Amino acid sequence: MFLAASCNGGESLVRKDFWQLMDVIMLRGMGVQAIYTNGRLATEKFFENLEKRYMHPMIQFSFDGIGAHDWMRGVDGAEKDVIEAMKRCKRHGFSFNAVMSLCKDNAASIRETVKLMADLGCSHFKVGTAYAQGEWANYPSMIGLPIEEKFPNMLDTPLEDILDKGLYMDIINYSIKGFMDHNPDCRECEYKNLCVGGCRAFAVRDVPDDYLSKDLWSCKYYKGGWMDKKNELFRKLGLITENR
Ligand code: SF4
Repeated sequence: MFLAASCNGGESLVRKDFWQLMDVIMLRGMGVQAIYTNGRLATEKFFENLEKRYMHPMIQFSFDGIGAHDWMRGVDGAEKDVIEAMKRCKRHGFSFNAVMSLCKDNAASIRETVKLMADLGCSHFKVGTAYAQGEWANYPSMIGLPIEEKFPNMLDTPLEDILDKGLYMDIINYSIKGFMDHNPDCRECEYKNLCVGGCRAFAVRDVPDDYLSKDLWSCKYYKGGWMDKKNELFRKLGLITENR
């Protein structure tokens, strides 16, 4: 069995004993699968140190969007620094991923951000939700969806009350049947088994008062022929041999 460690956040590269830890991990016969970083300390020296040890972890950078990364991170120049670190990473022959924390105020940058990541050679780009933690807890208006304001506050509501009933539990427990009863045209739709109404997060973002509404983006993807176009492109690129 091959054991591997991942160094995730905060920012593991700020540790003074980072290389000692790497050496101990390897002395114990383990690998280092991934290192998460904001890129500021992913210097030439950092990559040289990896090379010297014959380490080849996936580097995972945080990147919260073109024109948004500095204020999301609260650090002037953070965007420029992480882009430079990504280029450095590629120059040294390492693969990298990027993760974007999405909120209302950076959502508009997503298309250009994806393009930039592709141009820089990013292997995987993951989009997650920005959470009201740390500094971001001071900006509740930019985090989350309007429907979340109707959820009980865990700091002042007993857990058993939260789990007993209410909107939050209705959403958690929604059923496919309930969805199809609410959207009869989906029941008749040729894509229903692939789409199943799409993503609930997108649905409540676009129709905040109806958590059983259709995800309009998924609907466009299937009914607008985008799945077919994507499959055609993937076939041309040799990435798939049949429809998915
Ligand atoms: S493609 Fe549209 S109509 Fe069909 S199941 Fe999905 S949301 Fe419903």
